[in-house]
Amino acid sequence: MARIVIIGASTGGLSAAYEMKKTLGPGHDVTVISNASDFHFVPSNPWVAVGWRTRGDISFPLKPCLDRKGINLIVEAAGNIDPRKNEVTTVKGVVVPYDYLVIATGPKLAFDEVEGLGPDENTVSVCTVDHAEAAYAAYMKFLADPGPVVIGAAQGASCLGPAYEFAFILDTDLRKRGLRKRVPMTFITPEPYIGHMGLAGIGDSKGLIEHEFRQRHINWQTSVRIKKAGAGKMTVDIAGEGEKELPFRYSMIIPAFRGVSAVAGVEGLTNARGFVMVDEFQRSPKYGNIHAVGVCIAIAPVEATAVPTGVPKTGYMIESMAAAAVENIRAAINGEEARAKATWNAICFADMGDTGIAFVAMPEIPPRNVTWAKKGRWVHLVKVAFEKYFLRKMKKGIVEPFYEKIILDALRIRKIE
Ligand SMILES: Cc1cc2nc3c(=O)[nH]c(=O)nc-3n(C[C@H](O)[C@H](O)[C@H](O)COP(=O)(O)OP(=O)(O)OC[C@H]3O[C@@H](n4cnc5c(N)ncnc54)[C@H](O)[C@@H]3O)c2cc1C
Repeated sequence: MARIVIIGASTGGLSAAYEMKKTLGPGHDVTVISNASDFHFVPSNPWVAVGWRTRGDISFPLKPCLDRKGINLIVEAAGNIDPRKNEVTTVKGVVVPYDYLVIATGPKLAFDEVEGLGPDENTVSVCTVDHAEAAYAAYMKFLADPGPVVIGAAQGASCLGPAYEFAFILDTDLRKRGLRKRVPMTFITPEPYIGHMGLAGIGDSKGLIEHEFRQRHINWQTSVRIKKAGAGKMTVDIAGEGEKELPFRYSMIIPAFRGVSAVAGVEGLTNARGFVMVDEFQRSPKYGNIHAVGVCIAIAPVEATAVPTGVPKTGYMIESMAAAAVENIRAAINGEEARAKATWNAICFADMGDTGIAFVAMPEIPPRNVTWAKKGRWVHLVKVAFEKYFLRKMKKGIVEPFYEKIILDALRIRKIE
């Protein structure tokens, strides 16, 4: 009997856990270590931040779902991994031995890299549901006395899509409330141009998003490095233009990411920023029985930019990484060679509150076979439906290439129209 331990229970970890149990069957032991007792659907966080969703709408408890599938759950943070002893120790000192380990710990949010940034300081965030709830509380106060807002991402950020989404969602919400006139909006980003996305653009993402910004009176600044997020004042350095101050009454900034400390501390496992280095089979080159999936893995930037940006890791890719890791662990248990590789395609629906843009990048890193971006209200509707279906799949433990199925179906329907 093999013991498989998975750290993290979000898009990457929970998908891997269900798929692992289904693939390996009752003869092997699957244990999930999660510092959260609930699953949260992260892509809906921007809606929580404007009150269109509550925590309850986008979360469910992990335990009953994992119990039903015969998967063990330890609700505690993994504190330390010892790859020589093949053990994970939780922060409370529980030692969990493994034969195979899957790391799916997502990011550590590097607010500390910019003075004054983050929910404990002067800006809000939508990266976690806790942050999104705090952002909503701050938004309610802001609405009583509106003023300028600054939305965007900090230098080194890779998760750029949600920054755009939040700018458009906020714009939509303010228009619905009849308050948009009182809110000058500025979008700031480390990207060299709007719609770069850390991916050197997808189709005409630059044209589409700039058009939408103009249409909605959202000003923008690219190649921005935030020097300081003060109380009500953002000091930024713009490549080629110099320092500027941007006043705000409300600001949501996505930070750069690093690897979480339990993982970053393991010698030879991660790169300098704490992201797990993996080969084409999702396996650590140094520790063959450790696999990693999702935001926690290292991917080199697509190109050098004046201000650094990272490559986003999106749901479709993450689900495919989990499937590849499971299949390669099954192969290893049976003494076979690893063969499964993730499809590194990015297919995303960026919500804009009342419309949206669909992006298809196959593969994610250019040059690509397919690179396509299209705007339409259908994207907003697909995203709403997608949230429901994905939550159902995760709650019920349905193992199917969901992103692939739903997204490709949606694109097919769109083509037929
Ligand atoms: C606001 C936002 C919106 C997004 N929207 C989209 C979208 O629309 N479409 C898309 O394709 N992608 C989207 N993404 C990108 C990506 O799909 C998500 O970030 C996704 O949640 C990543 O999944 P993950 O499992 O890799 O990491 P995470 O979701 O970050 O999960 C990691 C889990 O590990 C846990 N953990 C961390 N450290 C430990 C530890 N030491 N011990 C135990 N547990 C630990 C965390 O609490 C967390 O539950 C979005 C990202 C963000 C931040």
